[in-house]
Amino acid sequence: MAYRITLIPGDGIGPEVVTATQDVVSAAGVAVDWEIHHAGIEVAKLTGSPLPLPVIDAVRKNRIALKGPVTTPIGGGFRSVNVTLRQTLDLYANVRPIRSLPGVDPRFDVDMVIVRENTEGLYAGLELMILPGVAQSIKLTTERGSTRIAEFAFRYAKKHGRSKVTIVHKANIMKISDGLALDCARRVAVGHPEIQLGEMIVDAAAMTMVRDPNRLGVIVTENLYGDILSDLGAGLVGGLGIVPGANIGDDAAVFEAVHGSAPDIAGKGYANPTALVQSAVMMLRHLGEHDAGDRIERALTTLYRAGQVRTRDLGGAASTSDFTRALCAEI
Ligand code: NAD
Repeated sequence: MAYRITLIPGDGIGPEVVTATQDVVSAAGVAVDWEIHHAGIEVAKLTGSPLPLPVIDAVRKNRIALKGPVTTPIGGGFRSVNVTLRQTLDLYANVRPIRSLPGVDPRFDVDMVIVRENTEGLYAGLELMILPGVAQSIKLTTERGSTRIAEFAFRYAKKHGRSKVTIVHKANIMKISDGLALDCARRVAVGHPEIQLGEMIVDAAAMTMVRDPNRLGVIVTENLYGDILSDLGAGLVGGLGIVPGANIGDDAAVFEAVHGSAPDIAGKGYANPTALVQSAVMMLRHLGEHDAGDRIERALTTLYRAGQVRTRDLGGAASTSDFTRALCAEI
């Protein structure tokens, strides 16, 4: 029987990497009935909303979605489709494994995970101009949100055979908000004595990620720090073309790459689909399709180890479709 999965192609390079990923999932022998819904600026022009209700309802109904990136206007314009989707569906855990692929960047051999709180912090949308020339953003931190993300991170570490969770914070300066998050995570850690606990201030964590990333194990952190550290992690493993992600809640999960819509290369046919393909691997495992996930992962490893078919972001000349064909042939 085919899985029914909501597919949001997004914009920019979104449709290019989404098509490639559909081909890879199909090559792995998993039957999917993709329910396609659009979001973003073009949809806003037609419907008045960049994320119309039927899109949210479709994800809620199918409980699972694969999503391409969606452009967000800078400064004014509509609110981020990505943030709205995560908050509306309460997809509170953003999981971003940062893992080196063979031969991509020999300076590093990274294998760590970032678990980012996905619904609170400075992304809560509590922003206003209190006086002309004076703007205020409120960082929202709750005991409930901080506890459940820490619980998620410890359970994730256990399930994936990882021995350490590092809480990343700035509680030396934001003593009340980050202090609350840190207290909650420490309390959760007490219930998981088999997992080693680390604590690190976010600036030190940034340096440690560059010098000794695997020491951190699974990072659990608030929204903005997690967002920034993910791109740092992407930089360590060859760039944004590589790093996958999942937004997970109790009732639904949306799988998407860390990267955005990459307007500088959109429509040119040379986006690297690896990040979304690896997000699809996470999705297949979430569905219990471990064999298909493993086969795609092995094929990626083989292709990268051979080093002959690389997209331009990694110094090669392969187009998105060249890369996808070569990957499907390895599965
Ligand atoms: P970006 O991730 O789109 O691009 C940054 C750089 O990485 C660019 O040079 C781009 O060419 C390169 N890159 C990214 N993905 C690549 C891939 N798969 N293959 C090869 N190269 C790749 O970041 P940005 O330019 O800051 O953001 C563009 C837009 O995307 C913005 O509107 C932003 O808000 C949005 N965005 C959306 C999401 C999402 O939908 N989840 C995430 C991040 C950014």
